[in-house]
Order: sequence, then C-alpha cells, then structure tokens
Amino acid sequence: MLVSDSITSIKGVGKAAEEKFNKLDIHTVGDLIEHYPVNYDIFEDIRPIATVEEGETVAIEGVLIRNAESKRVRNLQIVNCRISDGSSNIFVTWFNMPFLAKQLKMGTHYIIRGTVIRKNGFLSMDQPTLYSKQDFVNRLGKMQPLYSLTQGVSNNQLSKAIGIALKEVEFPKEYLPKSIRDEHNLIDYKKAVKLIHAPKSMDEMLVARRRIVFDEFFQFSLAIQYMKNNRQINSNKNVMEPTKECEELLNSLPYKLTNAQLKVWEEIKKDVGSKSTMQRLVQGDVGSGKTIVATLALLMAAKNGYQSCMMVPTEVLAKQHYEGIIELLEPYGIKTVLLVGSMTAKEKREAYAMIASHEADIVIGTHALIQDKVEYDKLGLVITDEQHRFGVKQRETLAEKGNSPHILVMSATPIPRTLAIILYGDLDLSVIDELPANRLPIKNCVVNTNYRQTAYRFIEKEVQAGRQAYVICSMVEESENIEAENVVEYTDKLREALSPSIQVEYLHGKMKASEKNEIMERFSRGEIQVLVSTTVIEVGVNVPNSTVMMVENAERFGLAQLHQLRGRVGRGAHQSYCIFVSGSRSKDTMKRLEILNHSNDGFYIAEEDLKLRGPGDMFGIRQSGLMEFKLADVFNDANVLKEAAKAAKEFLDDDQLMKEKNEYLRQRITSYAGQTSL
Ligand code: ADP
Ligand code: MG
Repeated sequence: MLVSDSITSIKGVGKAAEEKFNKLDIHTVGDLIEHYPVNYDIFEDIRPIATVEEGETVAIEGVLIRNAESKRVRNLQIVNCRISDGSSNIFVTWFNMPFLAKQLKMGTHYIIRGTVIRKNGFLSMDQPTLYSKQDFVNRLGKMQPLYSLTQGVSNNQLSKAIGIALKEVEFPKEYLPKSIRDEHNLIDYKKAVKLIHAPKSMDEMLVARRRIVFDEFFQFSLAIQYMKNNRQINSNKNVMEPTKECEELLNSLPYKLTNAQLKVWEEIKKDVGSKSTMQRLVQGDVGSGKTIVATLALLMAAKNGYQSCMMVPTEVLAKQHYEGIIELLEPYGIKTVLLVGSMTAKEKREAYAMIASHEADIVIGTHALIQDKVEYDKLGLVITDEQHRFGVKQRETLAEKGNSPHILVMSATPIPRTLAIILYGDLDLSVIDELPANRLPIKNCVVNTNYRQTAYRFIEKEVQAGRQAYVICSMVEESENIEAENVVEYTDKLREALSPSIQVEYLHGKMKASEKNEIMERFSRGEIQVLVSTTVIEVGVNVPNSTVMMVENAERFGLAQLHQLRGRVGRGAHQSYCIFVSGSRSKDTMKRLEILNHSNDGFYIAEEDLKLRGPGDMFGIRQSGLMEFKLADVFNDANVLKEAAKAAKEFLDDDQLMKEKNEYLRQRITSYAGQTSL
C-alpha cells in the first residue's frame, strides 16, 4: 500500500466511508496517517465514586441499584439508571441506545467511564462507555488517541483505519539528512508517525511530536525561503502611481486615519511604485482599521487601470467587505463584484464574465476566488484578509492569477516580531500599532454562571440605550450538530429571559450561507439587537454599534480566540464591555482568563498565554488553528520553529534542495509553495 493510494484500499473503508473521510480532508493513505491525534485520553484506574469531582473523566465500577428505564423525550430515546460502589452513587444517562434498558441488569457489576457532571445537584454521567473487566484492564495506563471527527466517523473507526494503514503502508524513505536529525535530536520519521498514534507514555509522545513538528516547520521554512530567494528578482510589472481619488476618499471619511494607518498607506504607495513587486504583510490588532487601508489600495489599483481582488476566510466577512467597499468606492465609478461559494451557478458565471472582461475592477470573495474558472484581464493587486486562516499555497495560487501582482496580506494575529520574520519571511512587515483615537478601552469581567441573570439585565440596559450585543455559545462537544442545537436552545432561553421587545436571533456554522448573510445583514442594520452565535463571527465582523460581548464557557477557548471574539466590540465611539462567563472555577482557568481581564493588548496576551503553557498543554485547547500546520503550534513550538528555520536556511544555502537525492522533499515543498515556485 502506498501513501498515494486512495483510502478505499484500506480494509473496512468503503465508498460510503470514503465520502465521510473526505470531509476530514483525508483522501489518501498518506493523509490518513497524517491525521494526527488532537488529544489523548489516558486510562487511569477505577475510582471510588465518593472521590470523583465534576469535570473529571473517570472510570468507576459498581452495581446497578435501580433498573434501567428507557423513555422518549422529544426526538431522543433516553436510558436512565443509577450505579453504586458502596462509597457513593451516581446517575447515568445514555442517549439513543434504548437496547441498554434490556441489557443492563439490576445487581450486576459494571465498569463505566465518562465525564462527571452535576445534574439537578446530583453527580451524573452522560453517555459513558461500558467496559468489560478484561477490556478495561487492557487499556489501563495507555494513551488512547483522540482524533478530530465528523458526523458518521467515530474515533474507533478512525483508530482502526489508521492502525491498518500504519501496518500496511510503505513509508516514504527518510528524507531529512542524518546530519540534521543528529544535530536537532530527531527520531526517524516512520517511527515518529507510528508513535504519535500510539505512544506508551507522555515522553514517547513528546519525542514523536517533536520530530513531526520539526518536519512541518522545516518544510514550511524551506518553501518560504525558497519563494523569497526567487522573488528578489521579481521586477514590478504593475507599476502604480498615487491618484487624487485616494486623497478624495481620505478627505471624505468621517474620521482621520491614525498615524499608524497613514504610515502603512505610505509604505504601500511606495511599494507599488517601486522597482519590485509589493509583498507586504500588515499586522494590526483587532479593530486597528486595516480594512480602510486595503480599500485605499484597491482604489489606487483601479484608478491605475488594474483589477484587484481581496480574499477572506468566511462568506459573512466577504459580504461585509463587499458592501463596505461598494459604499466607499462606487462614487468613484468603480465596479466591485462578489464571488462566494454559495452563489448559484448562474450568478457565478456572470461574475466570471465580468471579471474576464474587466467590467469588474474589484472582486471580493472567499476561496471561490482561487477556482480555475476565475480569469482576470489585468490583475495587479491581490489582498488576503485574515491571512492566518489561509495557507501559503492559497495565497500563492491567488497571486498566480495575475502577472506577478502586488501582494498585500493582513492579519490580526499578534505574532511576536521574531516569529513573524520566520513565518512571513518572504514578506515585508508593516505594523498598525495604534487604535483609532475615539476608542474607549473595552471593560472586561470574568464571572461564573451565577452572574448570568445580571449579565442579561446589563444587556437589556445597553439595548435600551440603542446598542447591540453578541452572546457566544461554545461547543458542548466537538461536533457541529450539537453545537448548532446548543445555540438554538440557548437562544430560546435567552428570548425568555430578555424583555420581549428585544429581537434575539442566532447564527451557527450549519446554517445555509444565505441564512447567515440575512441574519448578519439584519444585525448590521440594527434590526436584531442580540445575536447568539458560535465562533463563526470570530473573524473580521464589524458592527460598531455592538457594545457587549458575552462569552459562555470562556474556559473552552484559547486566549487568542477569545481576544478575537472580544475584538467584535469596541469598534466605535461607545464604551464596550466583554463578559467572560466561566463554567469552571479551576485555578488554571482563572489564571488564563485573568490575563484577558486586565489587558486588551493582543501581543501582551499572546506572550502571557505562552508563559502559562507547559509541554502537557500541547493538546486540548487549540491556540487558534494558526496557519496550515497539522500538529505544530506557532506559539507553543516557537523554539522548534526557530531551529527548523535555521536548518532550512543552511540547507538552502548549501544548495541541497535541488540535489537528486532530495527529490521527495522537493515534491513536498512544491505542495506548499504552489506549482510555479519550484
Ligand atoms: P480590523 O483592523 O479589525 O480589520 P476594521 O478595519 O474593521 O478593523 O475597522 C474597525 C472599525 O474602525 C471600522 O468601523 C472602521 O470604519 C473604523 N475605523 C477605521 N479607522 C479608523 C480611524 N482612524 N478612526 C476611527 N475609526 C476608524
Ligand atoms: Mg478586519
């Protein structure tokens, strides 16, 4: 079996499973073995019920002291029972497994394992797993890999498929030269992949992880540095000159650009008129006003006779930028079109035609922009907003649609300069390090769930004063369906809790794009006052009238993500507030949330967050899914990143990449850097 073989060559993976695996971006056997665990479940010994606490995942052994009963609640079949081990007892519930009601016998011993919760004041477990004694003993002390899943693919199923693949696949030859492996203390690639899926100990896992993280960074750094070396000779084929319209636009704005914005705008003007192509990253904290700078660049390109485009990660954001840009630029006779995945085939065809004929000056869209069918007449500038959500390859593919167009990328991710230089080594760096002057710092608070009613009263007060609010509901489990259900249910409750005159609506990832757009538009227009949402609004959304951000279960998010979410408020002149509701009172959670509580500065937060993390925190809370790494985390693995970047530089300087023996590595780099780069 080869890494390039389809996953259907694995026993037990048929056509139906293939489709589901594809949703996880697993197409080949190679993808499968690189679907690394997101976390591990460590099986510890059975615990007396009297010692377990809410929030712990534990195994208990006891007798059924009440007959299991099955009942139907709405569309769920529920089985309830109660288990005692002499020290105490616990309520147990299973959903949609009605057969258990017959199987479980009163007075019999069972071993169950699950997460302890409190329901109506009583210790309970929902949906625990049942184990036979033997099965449990076999797992004891082992680290069970947990994979990211999608509906219809269970962890078991994935584990099995990965197990078969690891056994049967012919691993690609080790490609990392021995000298590099020795210098950086790295184990063999094949061994690392095998171990990461089935480590016997935390130490083993860390050793395996280190090798894979190094690989990811090494390949990434090679691609970036190679691209940079190539580009130095890229002469400017799309020279642009400053135009009076940009000055007019600046003068017509209801505010003055900050000095930081002006500085970046000057840099851009200089770049596009210079001898070489612009390759610039604009880094600026949430709310620092990156969009207007991009808009000026789009206007300049159009007035110089060029087409330009802007790619953003979500449709909601594309729509928002599209509307904002039409409003600002239509008066200058500029035609802007939208291109997103949810448009009908006919709408897309119309957009393609307008782009090809140059009727459209500016195109705003999502990944749809990099489809083959999109052809430009004269593309001179490409912008990616929220670049950290895209891969290098996507940025390159977009640029390949033009004849060496100028590249402007924008990101709110507060990456320390030393890391940014490595990660965006092929780009020049601009920083907007100043917020508009009219902003009042956001007032924060970290509270527990008892505070909820008070928070609702506060939201009512703000709404009465004409403002709007967001309430973020996190996932209960890593499943989109449950997440959606959760948001809908929460919205119902919130509607009851708030005054009936307040319009409350919800937004989640499972909704159709058109529904999402409609809700966002109504929220923008102020017709909806309170928006309950999942993290789909995390990036870019700009409704300056919103002043309250309430985040439920704040402990479940990474700090970077919470900072992004908070960035949805504090975007206008009104005082804004962020309420982090924590469902956990653990010390660690409190420490982390306290960082956000006393600072609104993204760079500071990222640094403090890093300090609090130990090697064991590698899994669990995702930082922010930064860039395209599968396992590596730019923040946590900063040291490995530096090592790998240095190794990559030496490798290139030594002209190793073009050597025959490094053919395989070259292939992998090509898949990063885009087809034409190598
Ligand atoms: P981000 O950098 O997060 O993308 P935006 O570009 O969306 O931020 O800007 C946030 C809000 O600030 C917008 O409503 C925008 O109109 C406004 N804004 C931008 N620049 C200024 C400025 N210099 N003064 C006042 N408001 C500004
Ligand atoms: Mg933005």
